[in-house]
Amino acid sequence: MKFTVAIDGPAAAGKGTISKAVAAHFGFAHLDTGLLYRAVGAGMLAGGDPLFVARNLDSANLDGNALRTQAVAEAASLVAAMPDVRAALVKFQQDFARREGGAVLDGRDIGTVICPDAEAKLFVTASAERRAQRRHKELTQKGFSQTLDDVLAAVIARDRRDSERATAPMMTARDAVVIDTSDLTIEDAIAAAVAAITLKR
Ligand code: C5P
Repeated sequence: MKFTVAIDGPAAAGKGTISKAVAAHFGFAHLDTGLLYRAVGAGMLAGGDPLFVARNLDSANLDGNALRTQAVAEAASLVAAMPDVRAALVKFQQDFARREGGAVLDGRDIGTVICPDAEAKLFVTASAERRAQRRHKELTQKGFSQTLDDVLAAVIARDRRDSERATAPMMTARDAVVIDTSDLTIEDAIAAAVAAITLKR
C-alpha cells in the first residue's frame, strides 16, 4: 500500500509534532524534510560547498539534535533558496514518499513540488506571534537567552525568505486542508489532522 501525506507550513506551527503523531496513528514512516536542508546548512557552516554536501548527504545519518539550532536554521533557509541544492534532494524525498506502507513528509514544498499527487495534503500554520512564543519557550527551556522580540524577528525573516524565494517557495497547495493551530491544543490539532487524512483513505 502506498499513501503519501504531505504536511507543509512555516516554522513552529506544530508541523513536526502533528507529523510524528499522524505517522504513529496510521503506522506510516515519517520524514522531516527540514533536516535535509539543515544538514546541508550545517555542512556549509563547516566550510563545505552546499551543492557537494547536498549531493553526498547520508540521509540515514541525520542527527536532529545537533541540527536544531537557530544558526543551522538560518543556514538551512539560505541553502534552501539554491535551486541546485533543492534539485539534489528531490529524488530521495520522492522515493521516501512512495515507499510501501505509507509515508508522511513535512516541509515547505511537499504538497506543491515534491509530491503534487499526494493522497492527503495539510498546511499547518499559526500566527507569527504565537509561533514566536512557542519557539521562545522551547529555547528558554534549553537554556538559551534570546528575547521574545528577537525570536519573533527571526521567525518573520525566515517566513519571508521561505515564501519569497523563486524556487519552490512555501505556499499552500490548492487542495490542502489548512489547520491553524494558533488557538488549538496539540491534541485538538492532531485530531483535526487525523480526521482530514482519514477522509482521504
Ligand atoms: O522545518 P525546518 O525549520 O527544519 O526547516 C529549515 C529550513 O529548511 C526552512 O526554513 C526552509 O528554508 C528549508 N526547507 C525547505 N523545504 C522543505 C523543508 C525545509 O525549503 N521541504
